[in-house]
Parts: sequence; structure tokens; C-alpha cells
Amino acid sequence: MERPNLKGMTLAQMRDFVSQLGERPYRGAQLFSWIYAKRASSFEEMTDISQEFRHVLAGAALLENLRTVASNTSLHDGTTKFLFALRDDLNIESVLIPAEENAPDAGKRLTLCMSTQVGCPLDCAFCATGTMGLVRNLTAGEIVDQLIQVLRTIDKRITNLVYMGMGEPMLNYDAVMTSIEIIAHDRSLHISPRHITVSTAGYANRIRQMADEGRRAKLALSLHSLVESKRTALMPITKKFGVDELVDSLDYYFRKTRQRPTIEYIPFEGYNDTTADATRLIALARRVPCKVNLIPYHSIAFTHPAGFAATLRPASPSKIAAFAERLRSGGVTVMVRSSAGEDINAACGQLAVKHRSPRMQSASRQRKSVPAA
Ligand code: SF4
Repeated sequence: MERPNLKGMTLAQMRDFVSQLGERPYRGAQLFSWIYAKRASSFEEMTDISQEFRHVLAGAALLENLRTVASNTSLHDGTTKFLFALRDDLNIESVLIPAEENAPDAGKRLTLCMSTQVGCPLDCAFCATGTMGLVRNLTAGEIVDQLIQVLRTIDKRITNLVYMGMGEPMLNYDAVMTSIEIIAHDRSLHISPRHITVSTAGYANRIRQMADEGRRAKLALSLHSLVESKRTALMPITKKFGVDELVDSLDYYFRKTRQRPTIEYIPFEGYNDTTADATRLIALARRVPCKVNLIPYHSIAFTHPAGFAATLRPASPSKIAAFAERLRSGGVTVMVRSSAGEDINAACGQLAVKHRSPRMQSASRQRKSVPAA
């Protein structure tokens, strides 16, 4: 039988595990603290655990670590992209983003954007990851370990996490929520769920589930259009959960949690950046209190887009500014995001592992329909 990986277990699961080995539950708390708070990468590092028990652990469990294959820092804005290898040699990316120089919390906020899947099956037209297809979900341990491995290489505190890297978090819901439980624990990495944001391309059922379960992590929705046909072209998931159903789920989420969701919106030149589009967003914000992030479109030319994807162009900075002004005049809270990491292909929508395995290529060719979550 394969030995379980301790990284990815919650405190309760670790206590159970050590009990099964005939040890007292407090040993589980010790392990939990060594693995997450102290970021131990091997049992040998756990010096206050007896050698005898460490030996037992080594025979009964694994402590798997992501391998850092490369890291690349933007000369423009200090954004760093990490390339990690998983135990089956597949690759994922995570991106460390400092606050912008002129932001009020510059020098204090440091955000890690984490992946939840190898690739992604959702095929959004503007996204490099979508061109990879889905290879597999990450485990909770692989999600948490992105944070641990980045912390091991920098001498700074990471203040915010966003689940917006490779993959659709709601298609890996249980592992994502387990990872948040682990990360938020005060004996672990201790990042408050209020500083953790889970993004979705539009799984309305999971938005409702987050509300029903009282999840304290914040919610972001990649919206990009409120026009059914336009959103469907940008994001095929709209065929499964249409715009009305999605807006209803946001309304439900706000009424149940009193937390304002964030709406992510990429203005594309002449496609979704008109006065009518701004008016639709204002109407949405009047129904569901929310914040809107306007994100510049980043080129994914390196994926050789074809068809509709090849026609997408970024709205100019002046158009984005005018669009933001229109929203503000309608009472909407708006942030215009920078293009952090664009020069190293680490900006929103640009994450994709270029050297794809044959397995990845065939997954990409085979994708046909939008998966259920
Ligand atoms: S934008 Fe997100 S959901 Fe859409 S293909 Fe990219 S990773 Fe997947």
C-alpha cells in the first residue's frame, strides 16, 4: 500500500494518523507544526521528535516536497514566477506579486498567486493555461507546498493568497478548501481567510456552496461580459452556467455571507468596453454589492491563438481609464490593475508550461465539453 503524504493533512487528520501508529495525538500537533509552521522538508529536521518515532514515520508516511525548477523575476516590477516540478514530473507555476510602488500598502503587501490544477479544461479564449487542457488536479499538499517552497526561498512574509494561477479552483473544490483550512490554522502558516481569495470562471453551484458552508475566504468571479453570447465566446463555461444563473448565485452569496465578491473584468478593444457594457456592470453592482477589478489583457501570442482568440485585442490604457470612470460615476468601487509580471509571462492569463508532455498534448486535443463541478 502506498504511504500517505503527510503534507496536505489537516491537524485532525494528522492526529488520527499518529493514533493509528500507536502514538499519542499530541504527536500529530507536533508534526503539523513542523511541516507547516517550521516548513520542515524531511523527518530528520524534526529534532524534538524522538529518533525512534522519526524512523517509524519514515516507514509509514511520505513528506513530499515540490521541486523548484526555476524562478524568474521581472526587472520592471519585481514580480517573480516560480516553476515547480511535482512528484510525477509535471510542472506548475506560481507567481509572487509585490504591491505596486504607488499603492498605499507598498512594501507591506506581498501576494502569492497559486495554481490548483495542472492545466485547465475550461478553454477561456484569453488564457494561456486554457490551451493546455487538464492533466490532473493538484492535491491539497501540492497547493499548500507552493506557499511553503516560496517562503523557503524569500525572507519575507506573504500577506495575501489568490487562487488564480493555473486551473479552475472550483473543479478541485475539496483540495482547495482543505488547503485553506491548513494555511489559515494558527499552528500552521496562519494567513487569515480574509486575505485569501478563491477565483472562479463561473461555477454558480460552488459559489452557492461556499456561501452555504460559511467559507470565510473571499470570492472573485472572472466575469468579462454580462452579454450571454459574448461571454460564451470568451468563456465556454457560460454554456453550463449562464449569465443570469451566475448573477443569481452572486446575489445569494452576498445575502448569505455579507461579503462583497470581486468581479474580474478584462476590457477587450471594441468587444466588452462600451458604454452599454459599463451600464450593465453598474446595474450588477447595484443588485450585488461588489468590487470591480479591471485587468489589462496580456498577450498570449506564445500559444499561437487561432479563430476568435486571435481577434482579441487589449483596450488601450486611456479606454480602460474612461471605462473605470464610467463605473465610478455609477457608484461602483473600481481598481485598475497593473500588468505585473507581463515581461516574464507571469501576468494574469499568461501561465502555461511551454514544454508540454505528450500526455498534456493529448489532454489538450481531447477536451470537448465543460466539466461539471
Ligand atoms: S482563465 Fe482560469 S478558468 Fe479560464 S482557462 Fe484560464 S485557468 Fe482555466
